[in-house]
Amino acid sequence: MSVILTLLAALLASGACAYHRSSLRTWAIATIVATLVVGLLAHAPWTMVILLIIELAIALPLLLVDFRRKQISLPLLKLFAKVTPKLSETEQTALEAGTVGFEGELFSGKPDWHELLKQPKPELSVEEQAFMDGPVEELCGMIDDWQITHELADLPPNVWEFIKKNRFFGMIIPKQYGGLQFSALAHSAVLQKLSTMSATVSSTVAVPNSLGPAELLLHYGSEEQKNHYLPRLAVGEEIPCFALTGPYAGSDATSIPDTGIVCKQVVDGVETLGIRLTFDKRYITLAPVATVVGLAFRMFDPEHLLGDKEDLGITLALLPRSTAGLEIGRRHFPLNIPFQNGPVRGKDVFAPLSVLIGGPQMAGHGWRMLVECLSVGRAISLPSNATGGMRASALATGAYARMRKQFGLAVARFEGVEEALARIGGLTYATAALSRATAAAVDRGEKPAVPSAIAKYHATEWARQIAKDTMDVHGGKAVQLGPKNYAGRGWSAVPIAITVEGANIMTRSLMIFGQGAIRCHPYVLKEMQALSIADRGEQLKTFDRLLFGHVGFGISNAVRSFAMGLSGARLGETAGDAYTRRYYRKLDRYSAALALTADVFMGVLGGKLKFKEKLSARLGDVLSYLYIASAMLKRYEDTGRPEADRPFLAWGFHECMWLIQNALDGAIRNFPVRPVAWLLRALVFPLGRREVPPSDRLGRRVAALLTAPNDALDRLTDWVYTTPTANNTIGRMKALLPDVIAAEPVDRKFGKALKAGQFTSHDYLGQLTEAQQAGVISAAEADLLKRVREGVFEFISVDDFDTDELRAFKTRADAA
Ligand SMILES: Cc1cc2nc3c(=O)[nH]c(=O)nc-3n(C[C@H](O)[C@H](O)[C@H](O)COP(=O)(O)OP(=O)(O)OC[C@H]3O[C@@H](n4cnc5c(N)ncnc54)[C@H](O)[C@@H]3O)c2cc1C
Repeated sequence: MSVILTLLAALLASGACAYHRSSLRTWAIATIVATLVVGLLAHAPWTMVILLIIELAIALPLLLVDFRRKQISLPLLKLFAKVTPKLSETEQTALEAGTVGFEGELFSGKPDWHELLKQPKPELSVEEQAFMDGPVEELCGMIDDWQITHELADLPPNVWEFIKKNRFFGMIIPKQYGGLQFSALAHSAVLQKLSTMSATVSSTVAVPNSLGPAELLLHYGSEEQKNHYLPRLAVGEEIPCFALTGPYAGSDATSIPDTGIVCKQVVDGVETLGIRLTFDKRYITLAPVATVVGLAFRMFDPEHLLGDKEDLGITLALLPRSTAGLEIGRRHFPLNIPFQNGPVRGKDVFAPLSVLIGGPQMAGHGWRMLVECLSVGRAISLPSNATGGMRASALATGAYARMRKQFGLAVARFEGVEEALARIGGLTYATAALSRATAAAVDRGEKPAVPSAIAKYHATEWARQIAKDTMDVHGGKAVQLGPKNYAGRGWSAVPIAITVEGANIMTRSLMIFGQGAIRCHPYVLKEMQALSIADRGEQLKTFDRLLFGHVGFGISNAVRSFAMGLSGARLGETAGDAYTRRYYRKLDRYSAALALTADVFMGVLGGKLKFKEKLSARLGDVLSYLYIASAMLKRYEDTGRPEADRPFLAWGFHECMWLIQNALDGAIRNFPVRPVAWLLRALVFPLGRREVPPSDRLGRRVAALLTAPNDALDRLTDWVYTTPTANNTIGRMKALLPDVIAAEPVDRKFGKALKAGQFTSHDYLGQLTEAQQAGVISAAEADLLKRVREGVFEFISVDDFDTDELRAFKTRADAA
């Protein structure tokens, strides 16, 4: 017994130090003192002496810094230099671009929640709110999505004009150039609201404000280029597009085969230094109507007209539409969402060097320029469009499910429908929080490379899930296209969002963890960078410090993961109030588990992990769900901890924890080195997998919030265009919902009398009159039932057409 007590004391002291991340010195002192005291008190002298010898044997070499550096760190540095894979230039550029925000804390195994909670609450300025209430509201009122998607396959001229005149294309352009200079949050809010009315309009507005000519000019353009283009772009006098993708370069955009050869050509009688461009680009948004084309190509200088280098690398230029030889104007047709999108081609197109963004000195820097700007646009455009669509779906599907009756009941009452409604509510809450978090990061001046990939992937994947649930709950109503169908085009639009700005499979498998692990990890990137320190002494010193920091970090994460796993994340100091504390604790636990698993995977597999996409995708999922859950908690705090929102928060949070558990379990289950996997499983899941998905009861509470007007639903569907105008079915459904609910008890009375055979009439109006005459319902109640029946009929109706009305194109035979 005394032996066990002494051993336990040493272990507990060590474990406590590791858990709290104490220094090596504190660990040594605490462990030795605990061994001595308990050994003496418990009368276990031999155990105590043996333990002390072991402890000193470990502590002394580590505490003697010179000895440690030469005997331990130096050989390990040599080994590390040998096994560390060389980063390609592309990877190096991707890693250096962007900043690390709160996601770094999630990778630390011990997130500092204060850092998250002290971040200012994102809010629209008075001017931005006025824009939302003015031009955005007005634009929403002008949109007829059926006209856009079916009749015109384009925005009508008045909508184009309104967008340009009100500077919707200039949201990111500073005021000094005539732009709106909006915050990222406002930019996101505008896109969210527009996307509740039309994916075609929101995509059209999103593109000039995302990665493209304006963003690139702002960062790298010469003064002359900025002064020429930015004021014209701000008011839509110039319409931009940006052409990177081609038939041979999709996801791997660095492999573009398009070329620009430096040469001289006589232009208007003057010999001009320029580039001869040959390119074949496709899928380019706004290209058919663009007046200025941003072009990425590989630049070569075979005659050394600019310098010694022949292959200068990827370069960016701005070609005016009037450039001779530019083939532009034809359109692709992206899944019936007819925003302007098409190919741009050119063969031996000559342009002067002044077309290069930033001038000739920026030749060859194109990839860096793109990657540095990518994260900002990616953090906003697609997450916002997805969030807007989801918010509108939540509002519409909740109302529809309450209005649509089958088997004598509102379909919302059926548990199968309730399940879909719960997903819609929970995932919309999570996605709105995620989108808000990435916009806030941009507003803090971050370039959120990893969060923007998380947001792009998860917002669009969840939008796909919700589009599916929305279609399912609406049944045939959502299948039959026409002006009355507000869901079908959203369903069509989802794969577009999945594909653009980093196709989702690649974003998940390659980018989130691939970049997250190296960028956010407190040691890995620094260790890799230490390899390039020229001064050997300094290099060893730095590597030694990082190495032992890293080892301590790993041990601490193992202890934390195990201890929190054992307690079911019920213990430990953390943030939050009585309601949310358990959530923060769970995040602490899985943050430690992620840090531990990532370290072990990287340590054992090294550079091979990059090719194990299925493993790295799962670890990326863990990071993503930690980020999303943190964003939800921050949103809950910022909105004043509203009790009414708790079902949404709880559903979203438990879903994230369930998904984290599945991802960690899948990663460990498939890790190829089995003994390591067994050890990891013991440390990560000491009591097995105990997370469960959101319960049916919780799902019922979420569904209930979606099917009746309430504050929580108003917050969830913030920024949805709800004005009940003729073009806005969802707004009119929202307006009718209180009457639908008020009519339910009356309808029950009426239905009971009907079932009892009290009426002789066979038509509804006749039965209402009889019910009123028999005193079953009052005149006002009869009126209410009549009004609701008429209103609901409009919403459950679908369109029908003559064959000729559906013929959007001439047949081939007609054309011939
Ligand atoms: C409507 C629309 C608008 C667009 N707008 C523009 C624009 O304005 N400008 C522009 O330059 N481009 C634009 N694009 C191009 C878009 O960015 C590309 O479609 C995208 O990069 C994917 O390329 P791809 O379609 O050729 O797919 P591919 O690269 O052929 O990919 C096929 C599949 O393989 C997966 N994959 C590829 N590599 C990996 C990997 N290493 N690991 C795991 N999975 C991988 C992808 O995720 C995808 O699922 C647009 C595309 C569309 C459809």
